[in-house]
Amino acid sequence: MSDIKQNIETFKNKLPENVTLVAVSKTKPLEDIREAYDSGHRVFGENKAQELKDKQPELPDDIQWHFIGHMQTNKVKYIAPFVSLIHSVDRFKVLKEINKQAQKNDRVIPCLLQFHIAEEDTKFGFDWAEVKEMLDSEAYQNLTNIRIDGVMAMATFTQDTEQIRREFRQLKSFFDRLQSDYFSESAHFKEISMGMTNDYQIAIEEGSTMLRIGSALFGARNYT
Ligand SMILES: *Cc1c(COP(=O)(O)O)cnc(C)c1O
Repeated sequence: MSDIKQNIETFKNKLPENVTLVAVSKTKPLEDIREAYDSGHRVFGENKAQELKDKQPELPDDIQWHFIGHMQTNKVKYIAPFVSLIHSVDRFKVLKEINKQAQKNDRVIPCLLQFHIAEEDTKFGFDWAEVKEMLDSEAYQNLTNIRIDGVMAMATFTQDTEQIRREFRQLKSFFDRLQSDYFSESAHFKEISMGMTNDYQIAIEEGSTMLRIGSALFGARNYT
Protein backbone atom coordinates (compact mmCIF):
# COMPACT_ATOMS: atom_id res chain seq x y z
CA MET A 1 0.00 0.00 0.00
CA SER A 2 1.24 3.53 -0.76
CA ASP A 3 2.24 5.83 2.05
CA ILE A 4 -0.63 8.23 1.46
CA LYS A 5 -3.26 5.49 1.59
CA GLN A 6 -1.64 4.07 4.67
CA ASN A 7 -1.47 7.48 6.36
CA ILE A 8 -5.13 8.18 5.67
CA GLU A 9 -6.26 4.82 6.99
CA THR A 10 -4.16 5.07 10.11
CA PHE A 11 -5.38 8.59 10.73
CA LYS A 12 -9.05 7.79 10.21
CA ASN A 13 -8.84 4.82 12.52
CA LYS A 14 -7.90 7.02 15.44
CA LEU A 15 -10.59 9.67 14.89
CA PRO A 16 -13.83 9.79 16.85
CA GLU A 17 -16.81 9.17 14.58
CA ASN A 18 -18.21 12.67 14.67
CA VAL A 19 -14.95 14.25 13.46
CA THR A 20 -14.49 14.94 9.73
CA LEU A 21 -11.03 14.68 8.24
CA VAL A 22 -10.25 17.37 5.68
CA ALA A 23 -7.20 16.20 3.74
CA VAL A 24 -5.24 19.37 2.99
CA SER A 25 -3.70 18.83 -0.44
CA LYS A 26 -2.33 22.35 -1.08
CA THR A 27 0.88 22.36 -3.14
CA LYS A 28 0.52 18.58 -3.71
CA PRO A 29 0.24 17.12 -7.22
CA LEU A 30 -2.87 15.51 -8.67
CA GLU A 31 -1.40 12.02 -8.35
CA ASP A 32 -1.16 12.39 -4.58
CA ILE A 33 -4.80 13.46 -4.40
CA ARG A 34 -5.82 10.52 -6.62
CA GLU A 35 -4.05 8.14 -4.26
CA ALA A 36 -5.94 9.53 -1.31
CA TYR A 37 -9.14 9.38 -3.35
CA ASP A 38 -8.52 5.72 -4.21
CA SER A 39 -8.35 4.90 -0.53
CA GLY A 40 -11.97 6.09 -0.35
CA HIS A 41 -11.35 9.60 0.94
CA ARG A 42 -13.57 12.35 -0.48
CA VAL A 43 -13.02 15.55 1.52
CA PHE A 44 -10.07 17.71 0.47
CA GLY A 45 -8.93 21.19 1.43
CA GLU A 46 -7.04 23.81 -0.57
CA ASN A 47 -5.94 27.30 0.42
CA LYS A 48 -5.47 29.07 -2.92
CA ALA A 49 -8.46 29.78 -5.16
CA GLN A 50 -6.42 29.63 -8.35
CA GLU A 51 -4.82 26.31 -7.43
CA LEU A 52 -8.19 24.83 -6.49
CA LYS A 53 -9.78 26.08 -9.71
CA ASP A 54 -7.03 24.39 -11.71
CA LYS A 55 -7.14 21.08 -9.83
CA GLN A 56 -10.90 20.59 -9.57
CA PRO A 57 -11.68 19.76 -13.24
CA GLU A 58 -8.84 17.22 -13.34
CA LEU A 59 -10.20 15.15 -10.47
CA PRO A 60 -13.36 13.13 -9.80
CA ASP A 61 -16.64 15.04 -9.46
CA ASP A 62 -17.64 13.53 -6.16
CA ILE A 63 -14.77 15.14 -4.26
CA GLN A 64 -16.01 17.63 -1.68
CA TRP A 65 -13.68 20.59 -1.94
CA HIS A 66 -13.22 22.74 1.14
CA PHE A 67 -11.57 26.13 0.88
CA ILE A 68 -9.41 26.92 3.92
CA GLY A 69 -7.22 29.86 2.86
CA HIS A 70 -7.39 33.62 3.07
CA MET A 71 -9.86 34.67 0.39
CA GLN A 72 -9.37 37.58 -1.98
CA THR A 73 -12.78 38.87 -2.99
CA ASN A 74 -11.92 38.92 -6.70
CA LYS A 75 -11.20 35.18 -6.61
CA VAL A 76 -14.40 33.93 -5.00
CA LYS A 77 -15.84 33.46 -8.49
CA TYR A 78 -13.23 30.80 -9.31
CA ILE A 79 -14.54 28.36 -6.75
CA ALA A 80 -18.19 29.40 -6.28
CA PRO A 81 -19.56 26.89 -8.82
CA PHE A 82 -18.38 23.82 -6.94
CA VAL A 83 -16.90 24.51 -3.48
CA SER A 84 -18.70 22.56 -0.75
CA LEU A 85 -17.54 24.51 2.31
CA ILE A 86 -15.57 27.73 2.82
CA HIS A 87 -13.86 27.61 6.23
CA SER A 88 -12.14 30.95 6.07
CA VAL A 89 -14.72 33.73 5.95
CA ASP A 90 -12.80 36.39 7.84
CA ARG A 91 -14.60 39.61 6.93
CA PHE A 92 -18.09 40.75 5.99
CA LYS A 93 -16.98 41.88 2.55
CA VAL A 94 -15.96 38.33 1.64
CA LEU A 95 -19.25 36.90 2.86
CA LYS A 96 -21.16 39.37 0.68
CA GLU A 97 -19.09 38.42 -2.33
CA ILE A 98 -19.62 34.70 -1.67
CA ASN A 99 -23.35 35.38 -1.52
CA LYS A 100 -23.22 37.25 -4.82
CA GLN A 101 -21.28 34.52 -6.60
CA ALA A 102 -23.49 31.82 -5.08
CA GLN A 103 -26.51 33.65 -6.48
CA LYS A 104 -24.94 33.71 -9.92
CA ASN A 105 -24.47 29.96 -9.69
CA ASP A 106 -27.98 29.46 -8.36
CA ARG A 107 -26.82 27.74 -5.19
CA VAL A 108 -26.27 28.19 -1.47
CA ILE A 109 -22.66 28.06 -0.28
CA PRO A 110 -22.00 26.76 3.26
CA CYS A 111 -19.46 28.87 5.18
CA LEU A 112 -17.65 28.94 8.51
CA LEU A 113 -16.70 32.14 10.32
CA GLN A 114 -12.96 32.31 10.94
CA PHE A 115 -12.00 33.78 14.32
CA HIS A 116 -8.66 35.26 15.25
CA ILE A 117 -7.64 33.39 18.40
CA ALA A 118 -3.86 33.17 17.97
CA GLU A 119 -1.29 35.54 19.37
CA GLU A 120 0.28 36.06 15.97
CA ASP A 121 -0.95 39.02 13.93
CA THR A 122 -0.28 37.08 10.76
CA LYS A 123 -3.35 34.93 11.23
CA PHE A 124 -6.62 36.22 9.86
CA GLY A 125 -10.06 36.25 11.39
CA PHE A 126 -12.91 38.12 13.03
CA ASP A 127 -13.04 39.07 16.66
CA TRP A 128 -16.24 38.59 18.63
CA ALA A 129 -17.49 42.18 18.30
CA GLU A 130 -17.07 42.15 14.54
CA VAL A 131 -19.06 38.96 14.16
CA LYS A 132 -21.86 40.27 16.36
CA GLU A 133 -22.03 43.49 14.43
CA MET A 134 -22.22 41.59 11.17
CA LEU A 135 -24.89 39.15 12.32
CA ASP A 136 -26.99 42.00 13.76
CA SER A 137 -26.87 44.02 10.57
CA GLU A 138 -29.66 44.29 8.06
CA ALA A 139 -27.22 43.65 5.23
CA TYR A 140 -26.52 40.22 6.71
CA GLN A 141 -30.22 39.36 6.89
CA ASN A 142 -30.41 39.93 3.14
CA LEU A 143 -27.81 37.31 2.27
CA THR A 144 -29.96 34.50 0.94
CA ASN A 145 -27.31 32.36 -0.74
CA ILE A 146 -24.91 31.66 2.10
CA ARG A 147 -25.40 29.43 5.10
CA ILE A 148 -23.29 29.65 8.26
CA ASP A 149 -22.40 26.13 9.42
CA GLY A 150 -20.03 26.99 12.25
CA VAL A 151 -16.63 28.43 13.12
CA MET A 152 -12.96 27.95 12.30
CA ALA A 153 -9.63 29.11 13.66
CA MET A 154 -5.92 28.42 13.75
CA ALA A 155 -4.07 28.28 17.04
CA THR A 156 -0.71 29.93 17.64
CA PHE A 157 2.24 27.98 16.29
CA THR A 158 3.93 27.09 19.56
CA GLN A 159 5.16 24.16 21.66
CA ASP A 160 3.09 25.48 24.56
CA THR A 161 0.22 23.00 24.55
CA GLU A 162 -1.63 24.85 27.31
CA GLN A 163 -1.73 27.96 25.18
CA ILE A 164 -3.07 25.98 22.22
CA ARG A 165 -5.69 24.44 24.47
CA ARG A 166 -6.78 27.86 25.77
CA GLU A 167 -7.14 29.16 22.24
CA PHE A 168 -9.23 26.18 21.12
CA ARG A 169 -11.41 26.63 24.20
CA GLN A 170 -11.92 30.22 23.21
CA LEU A 171 -13.13 29.12 19.78
CA LYS A 172 -15.44 26.55 21.33
CA SER A 173 -16.94 29.23 23.57
CA PHE A 174 -17.52 31.52 20.56
CA PHE A 175 -19.26 28.59 18.88
CA ASP A 176 -21.48 27.97 21.92
CA ARG A 177 -22.46 31.63 22.20
CA LEU A 178 -23.25 31.93 18.52
CA GLN A 179 -25.28 28.76 18.64
CA SER A 180 -27.41 29.94 21.51
CA ASP A 181 -27.68 33.61 20.48
CA TYR A 182 -28.08 33.34 16.71
CA PHE A 183 -28.32 29.82 15.35
CA SER A 184 -30.43 27.86 17.80
CA GLU A 185 -32.92 27.18 15.00
CA SER A 186 -30.31 26.02 12.52
CA ALA A 187 -29.48 22.32 12.46
CA HIS A 188 -26.60 23.11 10.11
CA PHE A 189 -24.74 25.22 12.65
CA LYS A 190 -22.62 22.42 14.11
CA GLU A 191 -19.05 22.62 12.85
CA ILE A 192 -15.94 23.61 14.76
CA SER A 193 -13.01 23.48 12.36
CA MET A 194 -9.85 23.36 14.44
CA GLY A 195 -6.76 21.19 14.57
CA MET A 196 -3.85 20.65 12.17
CA THR A 197 -1.02 18.12 12.05
CA ASN A 198 0.70 19.55 15.11
CA ASP A 199 -2.26 20.18 17.38
CA TYR A 200 -5.13 17.92 16.29
CA GLN A 201 -5.14 15.81 19.45
CA ILE A 202 -5.76 18.86 21.62
CA ALA A 203 -8.36 20.05 19.12
CA ILE A 204 -10.30 16.78 19.40
CA GLU A 205 -10.21 17.00 23.20
CA GLU A 206 -11.59 20.54 23.00
CA GLY A 207 -14.51 19.69 20.75
CA SER A 208 -13.31 19.89 17.15
CA THR A 209 -15.66 18.47 14.52
CA MET A 210 -13.34 19.06 11.56
CA LEU A 211 -9.59 18.55 11.39
CA ARG A 212 -7.58 20.12 8.57
CA ILE A 213 -4.62 17.81 8.11
CA GLY A 214 -1.92 18.20 5.47
CA SER A 215 1.61 17.06 6.28
CA ALA A 216 0.63 14.04 8.40
CA LEU A 217 -1.13 12.60 5.32
CA PHE A 218 0.84 13.86 2.33
CA GLY A 219 4.27 14.50 3.84
CA ALA A 220 6.03 17.81 4.35
CA ARG A 221 5.33 20.56 1.84
CA ASN A 222 7.99 21.96 -0.36
CA TYR A 223 7.63 25.69 -0.98
CA THR A 224 10.20 26.21 -3.68
C1 LIG B 1 -1.90 24.18 5.49
C2 LIG B 1 -3.07 24.33 6.37
C3 LIG B 1 -3.48 23.28 7.21
C4 LIG B 1 -2.77 21.94 7.30
O1 LIG B 1 -1.52 22.08 7.91
P1 LIG B 1 -0.63 20.82 8.36
O2 LIG B 1 0.20 21.36 9.45
O3 LIG B 1 0.14 20.41 7.15
O4 LIG B 1 -1.55 19.75 8.81
C5 LIG B 1 -4.60 23.48 7.99
N1 LIG B 1 -5.29 24.64 7.98
C6 LIG B 1 -4.93 25.67 7.18
C7 LIG B 1 -5.74 26.91 7.23
C8 LIG B 1 -3.81 25.55 6.36
O5 LIG B 1 -3.46 26.59 5.59
